[in-house]
Order: sequence, then structure tokens, then C-alpha cells
Amino acid sequence: MAGPRPAISEIPHPALAAWLTARGEPAFRAGQILAGAHRPTSASFDDLSDLPMSLRGALADAFEFSTIADTHVISGDRGLTAKAVHELADGQRIESVLMRYPARGRSSERTTICISSQAGCAVNCPFCATGQAGFGRQLTPGEIVDQVLHWHRPPWSALGDGSTGHYNIVFMGMGEPLNNADRVFAAVRLLNDPERLGIGARHITVSTSGVVPGMDRMIDELPQVNLAISLHATTDALRDELVPINRKWPVREVVAAGRRFAARTGRRVSLEYVMIDGVNDTDEQALGLAAHALGWLSHVNLIPLNPTPGSRWSGTPAAGIARFGALLRDRGIGVTVRDTRGRDIDAACGQLHAQLAGRSLRELRAVEVPA
Ligand code: SF4
Repeated sequence: MAGPRPAISEIPHPALAAWLTARGEPAFRAGQILAGAHRPTSASFDDLSDLPMSLRGALADAFEFSTIADTHVISGDRGLTAKAVHELADGQRIESVLMRYPARGRSSERTTICISSQAGCAVNCPFCATGQAGFGRQLTPGEIVDQVLHWHRPPWSALGDGSTGHYNIVFMGMGEPLNNADRVFAAVRLLNDPERLGIGARHITVSTSGVVPGMDRMIDELPQVNLAISLHATTDALRDELVPINRKWPVREVVAAGRRFAARTGRRVSLEYVMIDGVNDTDEQALGLAAHALGWLSHVNLIPLNPTPGSRWSGTPAAGIARFGALLRDRGIGVTVRDTRGRDIDAACGQLHAQLAGRSLRELRAVEVPA
């Protein structure tokens, strides 16, 4: 029995050229096809109007235009945030989020797309809805890229033709990217490819819960990609509970790997720290975090917790985050506080997926698409 059709988003140029040649078509059409499939106006092979009709039909028979079978989108933040639950061919569901940041004093608008690297996650962080749902499977490079293409293509066309504004891709959706490193690295190369989306490596961030071997691979294989480490606690006792992978790679080793990345690549590493009221927001943790962050090219990003339904935890109030941040700044640490995008649409990782479990995406009312 024939296997699944390859995704156009991950087919290598030479393989596409060989397929064309075998059909008696000129190999140069491979570039035309890849350019057309990555155009913000293309919603299917039918839209590749510079190709003969018969070739468009043959492409549709041979390749998947998208590995995403179905999507349900909800918008929030007055249209600035949109969250998608995507259903894949085998019924696995993943999430991606589009966040727009209007120019407001900057020269241009910014767009960030948050994507998933796995269906579910095995790391099992207790504050995370994805972690609670368990692990499904690894995503393929095509399934990773197709999340970006979902927002790039009609009806969203959110990235435009790349000539206006800046956009960033962050691997901060479902899954631990460095537990799927081969496919994530392949997806980053596809996103980089100037024949495809041509997204600069410096506009891509891989966020890890602390998979040390994967961080070391990034030094050699993706040295221009940004690294973010989800630290969330500064002592092994607390981090063993909040980020259970800490039992394998403890805080000291994770921070050391971050330092190696910064030293070897010259790129600033972001230490992500979700603020949980009365749990990891004590002065002791702040001082511990300052000690870990001091003296190397790092930056702390404080994230107000977006609690999952039924969670025993709540987010640190704004005053507590300000006090925690001040303790860090007083010690010379660069600190930002992430804005709380998507609270009205359950945009924290895995929440919308959990909410829609058991419901058919096809039957859900389609969301309005902003003009
Ligand atoms: S926070 Fe990230 S690493 Fe932890 S369970 Fe959720 S998806 Fe996995």
C-alpha cells in the first residue's frame, strides 16, 4: 500500500526536480513550484497559475499542499492574537498562535508565530495543560513548517511577502523541541531556505526545558538561532517539581549549557521564568536566579502564569512580579516581563486543545478572519 503523500513543505528541491524529470517536465519547474507553494496568496496547488493545469493536478495527486487536515481558530486581544488548534491526518491535535504587535513608536509592525514541535509533551510540567495531557508523537518537519504556512497563507496571509515588518517564529507551543531535535532542526532549515519562506535564523527561537545534549547540538548546527531556557526555578528541589526533566539535567548543568551556547555563538540566551504565586517568586529564588544569570550573555524573561483550569496554582500578582524583577535588576540582570497575550482565548500552551478534546473541529463555527 502506498504511504502518505510527501508534504510540499518538506520535499527537498532535488527530489522535486527528479519527480518532474520522471514525468517529462523540465526540472526548473521545481523552483517555480516551491516559490508558488510559499506565496502568501496560494491556498492550494490550483493557485500556482504559472504552471500548466495538468501539472497542478499531478502535484495535488502526488503531494500534500498541507499536512494540516483541519483547523479551528479563535481570536482575542481585539484581533491581535489568534490561536489555532490543528488536526493532523492521524487525528493528533496541535496548537499554534499568531500574535501581532502594532508599530506604536517602532518603525514597523511585528508578528510572532508560536508553533508546536510535538503532539503533546512527555516532560510533564505540572503547571502546563500540554504536559498534563501526555505525549502523542513527534511532529515531522513538514507538520512543523505547515503551522507557519497556515498563518502565511490565505485567509490570514499574516507574514505578507516578507518585505514589510518583522516576524519571529518561536518554538514555544506544544512539546519539547530538543526531544525532537532532528526534525526541529530540519524544520528550521526549511524555514530558513530562501526558496521557501526565507525566515532568518535570528528571527527563530528554540525554547527548551533543559535538554542539555540538544542545547550543545544547537551550538554546532544552529548557531544563529536564539535559545531560550525554561528555567522556572533555581534550586533542584523546586525545579524537580516544576520541570521534572530537571531530574535528568539539573539546574547547574542546564545553566552551564546556556553559558556554553552564549560563549560559543555570541548570542544572548533568554532565561524564561513563569511566575507562580507563593511557589517560585520568593526573594530566595530571585537571588538564586540573579546568581545563575550574572556574568554571561543572558537575559531574564518573567512570564505571568496563565493558570490551567483546576490548577492549584495562580499567577504572581503584578506587584510581586515587579518586586522580583527589581531584585534582579538591582544585581545588574536584564529583565523583561512578557505581556499576557491570549488570556481571553486560553492561549497558554495546551489549554485550547484540552478544551476542544472530543469535539469535531469541522463542526465548530469558523472564526472571522481579520481583514
Ligand atoms: S511547559 Fe513545555 S516542556 Fe513543560 S510540559 Fe508543557 S510543553 Fe512540555
